Order: sequence, then C-alpha cells, then structure tokens
Amino acid sequence: MEGYRGRFAPSPTGPLHFGSLVAAVGSFLAARTRAGVWLVRIEDLDAPRALPGAADEILRTLAACGMHWDGPVLYQSTRTDAYRGALERLRGQGAVYTCACSRREIADSAVAGVEGRVYPGTCRERPAAREGARALRVLTRGAAIAFDDAVQGRIAQDVEKEIGDFVVYRADRVYAYQLAVVVDDAEQDISDVVRGADLLASTPRQIHLQQLLGLPQPRYAHLPVAVNERGEKLSKQTLAPPVDGNDPASALVAALDFLGQRPPAELARAGAVDVWQWAVANWRIERVPRLPAVGAVPASARPG
Ligand code: GLU
Repeated sequence: MEGYRGRFAPSPTGPLHFGSLVAAVGSFLAARTRAGVWLVRIEDLDAPRALPGAADEILRTLAACGMHWDGPVLYQSTRTDAYRGALERLRGQGAVYTCACSRREIADSAVAGVEGRVYPGTCRERPAAREGARALRVLTRGAAIAFDDAVQGRIAQDVEKEIGDFVVYRADRVYAYQLAVVVDDAEQDISDVVRGADLLASTPRQIHLQQLLGLPQPRYAHLPVAVNERGEKLSKQTLAPPVDGNDPASALVAALDFLGQRPPAELARAGAVDVWQWAVANWRIERVPRLPAVGAVPASARPG
C-alpha cells in the first residue's frame, strides 16, 4: 500500500456532535501530518435511521471547521451493487447461511459476549428448515483475530466465541455495516482507519471479512470515546448538542484537548486556520489517551 489514505465515515443520523468531531479531528490530523489523503464517506445505508438533511449538515460543519476533504464524498446508498457482489463471493465460498432466529430466540439461548449475545449457531446446522425473515450470517469458525492498534495496543478476539457468526445481510434487506465498511475501505484504498473505540470490538469482524474476501487490511487506531457525566457515549440518543459551526475554534481546541494534544487555551480565540496550523505542527498520536475521560467533555458539548 502506497501513501497514507484516511477517512471519516459518519452515519447521517443527526448533526455532527462533539463525539463525532473527535473522530473527524483525529482522522484528519493523522492524514494531514502524513501528507495523506483524507476522504469522507457518508454511511447512509440504514435508510430508516438516516435523518433527511443530516448528511449535508455534517458536511457543512466539517467545511466550517476548516476540514476540507479530498475527492468526492462516497455515499453508501449508491454502493449496493458492490455489497451484493461481496455477498455473492461469500456465498460462493459457502461462508454464509440464512438465519431465521428472532431476537427473542437468540436472547433465550445464547451466552453474553463482548457485544450483546453470542450467536449460538442455531441456523448453521439446520438452514432452510425454518420459516421467517432471512438474515444472512457469516461463518466465524476458527476466526481468532489479532491486530496492533496504534492507540489501544494489541487486540485479540476469538470472533466465534466472543461474537458468534454475525449478520452480513439483515432480515430487513439492508447490508450490514460490517460488510459495507469492509467493501468501502477497500474501494477507497484506505491505508489507515482512525475512528472511535466504540468500534474496537467490530474490527476483528471486519478483518475476518477482509480475509474471506481477499481484501487488504488497513492499519487501525481507535480513539477514546467522549462520554457524558453518566458515562454514556455522546450521541443523538443521549442528546449531545451539535458542534457550533459559527465558533469552530473552540470546538476544535476542545477536541484536541480531549485527544491529549494540550493545545494552548488562547488558541480557542484564534481562527480555525490557526488552530490547524498549530495542530498539524504538534500532533502526536502517542499522546492520545486510551480510555474515555468522564467529564472531559466541554460544557458546550453537554445537553443544556
Ligand atoms: N458510521 C460509523 C459511525 O458513525 C463509523 C464507521 C467507521 O468509522 O468505521 O459510527
């Protein structure tokens, strides 16, 4: 892989808030300090969860913050042919099977894993015999995955034991995030994925899919996740307020501070251009803390 290629991949479920700004700032700086390319991908696959206008609003806020992306924005909603192709490849290898289990059945029979219940493989042994909605799951037998994360260190996960065979095509006929992200990171030739640590447990699933599909594996860096006083991840559900595009410097300085970069306080009164000049000159990934810091979120990022 030649040249650094990073990306920011927001889901357009609402305006950019402090939590997603942190991921944007981290991925942007990691790319810009390596003379790399920084791409934006709108993850709008899940139409029912997408908020009309949110994608444009996110892009406007990024631009107002002086975060200018390279090349055209990729919209996942235009990519279903590519996802279908990947699914056909998995099917051709006998790596997927249909699943008609309800949430209830899975909850009743499965053990707790790192992310909800471990899928017990109920439909693996008896496909087609069951009625009902059909999701597609990928086999994870033997998928013991390990990788070195630039912030979190060595990560290892036995995907079969800790997650189970996971969904790549949902019963509501939507391609699963895990499949789409892998296909698109390869399409965009991404060398380095920098994103929130809420996705750390997803990375072994993505590496497993890369291996099955014969796709290159990017390097990974998972940034701490901003949480509120109750320890909840900032999100639309926890009422995180939008980043104020009219005062980008304060938001950017807060994000840099959260990422352990120790920006001088007076930088918040400068313009976004000065903030980026300082940030590019001073960015050090080894200063990024591993864990979310409760209460480290600036007051302006708290719900009023
Ligand atoms: N769309 C995902 C999110 O907003 C991020 C996906 C990724 O960076 O891999 O949480």
